[in-house]
Amino acid sequence: MGLRSLIGRLRGGRGATRSRDAQQLALELAPPPRTAAELLAHLQRMGLRGIRTLSLTRNRSVMVSASDGGLRVHRAFLAAPAPVHRAIVRFLMSSRRAERLAARRALVAFPVGDDERRAPRAPERTHPDDEKIAATLAEWHARYNSERFGGALTPVAIRVSRRMRARLGHYAPAQAGRPAEIAISRRHLRRHGFAEGLETLLHEMVHQWQDEQGHPLGHDRHFREKSRTVGIGGRAKRVVD
Ligand SMILES: [Zn+2]
Repeated sequence: MGLRSLIGRLRGGRGATRSRDAQQLALELAPPPRTAAELLAHLQRMGLRGIRTLSLTRNRSVMVSASDGGLRVHRAFLAAPAPVHRAIVRFLMSSRRAERLAARRALVAFPVGDDERRAPRAPERTHPDDEKIAATLAEWHARYNSERFGGALTPVAIRVSRRMRARLGHYAPAQAGRPAEIAISRRHLRRHGFAEGLETLLHEMVHQWQDEQGHPLGHDRHFREKSRTVGIGGRAKRVVD
């Protein structure tokens, strides 16, 4: 039903019809849903029943899928126009096969852009409370560089990560306009202590050395040799990236 015809009927309508149309009109003019909860409420106003939870997915193979009262919808559909949202409801609710198939075609035709498929996580920044420890690690980087690497390394950004859980640290080469960095897990520093954190820093500095010397990154023979030279031996007590 188009907006124009709706307005026409509102003007000429009576009692019950008017209030139902007013509801429909409000629906058409409402801002698009921005969250999973808003989309669920939006679809419920369009007649969706039997769904208790809605989650948004970035998985391109999942457009719309429902099971056990849970609905998964690709997040690109947040911005879809009302007819596409109605197609979601028809696809799930209609008892007529032809109607479900037509709705399905409308959903499949809706473009799910490539940029929606893989929105990268925003780069993590050091938490303000961790800046002091990050600065201390940077001092150790300068000291180790001078004492153990003969000053061969360039200064590099040192970050303390609250996202890292399984890993102790990483060295990330410069990429996509972002400079190289070393990140050390905050959880690692707290659990295993600063001395072990410094061993991890040295380990990542060997990766930095590999990168800056043009060697492939990895734990190959060259890595082990360089590790021994700078005093961390071949032993790896914990898994370090
Ligand atoms: Zn490593």
